[in-house]
Amino acid sequence: MSNDIKTQVVVVGAGPGGYSAAFRAADLGLEVTLVEARSTLGGVCLNVGCIPSKALLHVAKVIDDARDMASHGVTFGEPKIDLDKIRSWKDKVVGQLTNGLAGMSKMRKVKVVTGYGKFTGANTLQVGDTKITFEHAIIAAGSEPVSLPFIPKDDDRIIDSTGALELKDIPGEMLVLGGGIIGLEMGTVYRALGSKVSVVEFADQLVPAADADLVKAYTKYNKDNYNIMLSTKVVGVEAKKDGLYVTFEGKNAPEKAVRYDKILVAVGRKPNGNLLDAAKAGVNVDERGFINVDKQLRTNVGHIYAIGDVIGQPMLAHKAVHEGHVAAEVISGMKHYFDPRCIPSVAYTDPEMAWTGITEKEAKEQGLKVETATFPWAASGRAIASARTEGFTKLIFDKETHRILGGAIVGINAGEMLGEICLAVEMGADAEDIALTIHAHPTLNESIGLAAEMYEGSITDLP
Ligand code: FAD
Repeated sequence: MSNDIKTQVVVVGAGPGGYSAAFRAADLGLEVTLVEARSTLGGVCLNVGCIPSKALLHVAKVIDDARDMASHGVTFGEPKIDLDKIRSWKDKVVGQLTNGLAGMSKMRKVKVVTGYGKFTGANTLQVGDTKITFEHAIIAAGSEPVSLPFIPKDDDRIIDSTGALELKDIPGEMLVLGGGIIGLEMGTVYRALGSKVSVVEFADQLVPAADADLVKAYTKYNKDNYNIMLSTKVVGVEAKKDGLYVTFEGKNAPEKAVRYDKILVAVGRKPNGNLLDAAKAGVNVDERGFINVDKQLRTNVGHIYAIGDVIGQPMLAHKAVHEGHVAAEVISGMKHYFDPRCIPSVAYTDPEMAWTGITEKEAKEQGLKVETATFPWAASGRAIASARTEGFTKLIFDKETHRILGGAIVGINAGEMLGEICLAVEMGADAEDIALTIHAHPTLNESIGLAAEMYEGSITDLP
């Protein structure tokens, strides 16, 4: 009997982009087949990305909070770390979510095909023995970690983010190669569990996409927690029996090779666009593996769409989800576009760094006339009561209209708080709208209203 499938929509890849597109298309009455190479749904985000990292960051936070309590008169003693139990907690979290997706696919009658899909024509995809003939396709193939050519392969002391999440051991000395969000989040976990963590970053700032003031507050808080080498690069790694000997070059490079027990390579991610024979369907893929799309997520082939990490930066799950929805809606006949005013970014570090809309750096580059209003958490009752006053909330306004164009928060729970600023940017709120919104006291959220109040254009009289 033939395994062949005829479907209205085939979705290739079941990460946040792919499953969101599949579910939305099914909800809109389309017949959907979802193809995924992994044995579980959820893609990088649920299996080896956003979710397991946050499960481990939760453990790290509790350890750090317990340590901090000593200065408030409560002492817990040194934590006893049981790696097997931490790992099974993380796996349980992942399992709950990936199983949930399997259930939701079933409920929506989305046909799931497990295996690697490759195009064989403009309307056909091959997955193992199964030929899928489709009317529309959505490519949601995601991305994978970048490796560096001069770093030894097949040495289990050199890991990427997926290896770091496996939490095989707690190295004594760990080098995080790359000071971006993923590297710093994993560094947060390993430091809390007991590793001595060094971070090397080629740029002159950690998390180069974020505004410098945000990163400065993060770095100041963590000055004793990490050895940070900025404007420095790794030029060689020698794997010896007793450790990995790393040579550096640059402004803050140590003179001699330094020994580490483990190296986490976190220098970015590359798209998977080159791996699915897209050319056989006529779809253009650029030399880096990205697929170009229009605002309706259409590739150069009218009935084939692409979403998520495979179409470009920012490589974030929530961007993929919204793109997935738009692609499905367009296929169903709706005149929708992916045209957000802002896509939030959050580093779930300690403290968290979160920003959305335009940054000050971007405003400067684009020659926009903006003004900022910043509320320091040293003046926030809630931050003081929580002994976490290192943060601040910054709003960025258009100088003429006083409309909010962006904002940034550094501090505990910054990621949770950012949603309000996203909503304000999307709705075109001005400083007065935000300042007149009554925020509960004492909350960290209050700092958003207070920052707006500090802006000169926020108190106006009626005409
Ligand atoms: P992916 O999640 O990459 O999924 C693509 C899927 O497609 C994969 O499962 C792959 O197996 C499958 N696939 C690929 N090609 C084929 C094929 N030809 N046939 C069949 N299947 C195929 N983002 C956030 O927004 N917040 C975070 O906190 C966050 N934390 C992260 C932490 C880490 C450690 C990492 C690595 C990433 C993190 N990200 C985070 C990024 C986020 O995971 C990605 O942006 C997101 O998963 C992209 O979704 P996607 O749908 O484009 O693709």
